[in-house]
Amino acid sequence: MRQPLGQGARVELDGGQANYLGNVLRMKEGAELLLFDGRSGEWLARIAEAGKKRMALVVERRTREPETIPDVWLAFAPVKRSQTDWLIEKATELGAARLIPVTTRRTVIERVKLERLQAIAIEAAEQCGRTRLPEIDEPVPLARLLEKRDPARALYFADEAGGEPAADAFKPGPALILTGPEGGFTDEERAAVRGVSNAVPVSLGPRILRAETAALAALAAYMAVAGDWRG
Ligand code: SAH
Repeated sequence: MRQPLGQGARVELDGGQANYLGNVLRMKEGAELLLFDGRSGEWLARIAEAGKKRMALVVERRTREPETIPDVWLAFAPVKRSQTDWLIEKATELGAARLIPVTTRRTVIERVKLERLQAIAIEAAEQCGRTRLPEIDEPVPLARLLEKRDPARALYFADEAGGEPAADAFKPGPALILTGPEGGFTDEERAAVRGVSNAVPVSLGPRILRAETAALAALAAYMAVAGDWRG
């Protein structure tokens, strides 16, 4: 659901949603369903009006609280579309709170279809019974990401040229993990990232990983070392 959900809220479905529930699933007035908006948890709703082209629901009660996820963002240089789709799905499963496509000198893909990536994140969240969705940003150039960054948020720079071992580098707290494109970072980019105050170059081991593998490996390592896999 795009609109925020709450006790007693009335939700008007768009044509596609009404058609799917009414004509595909053949749900009638009074039928119950679970809704989530990716922020406020999961809600039980009931079909209040069912028409051919439209449908209205009334939200009755919250069935699950919004889950808490670590405040970790992943800034990744988008790669070919299928790999980026895969990356969005896996990063959603792993609990990233925000996904920021970053364009760098060697980034192949400049444009991403935000609607499409958001739909992939919603699908991934539904499949895993997640009630939190990552926010997904429009692509931003690396230089702008660096200048706009919040110095209070640790910037972990996955640098194929080397850095601190991930197990030592990742610390609990607001985090931004940055990974590069297939072609890697240029020397100027590497110097620019290492130049910002709160940047921590991180090594993901002795082997060079593909861009999407590195992004997921960094995220998983963060969850294990500094995130909410620590129990
Ligand atoms: N073409 C480059 C590799 C780029 S790998 C080369 O041959 O050097 C794509 C991105 O994944 C890198 O920019 C980096 O962010 C990340 N990455 C891959 N392997 C890594 C490693 N062992 N340590 C840290 N980051 C790594």
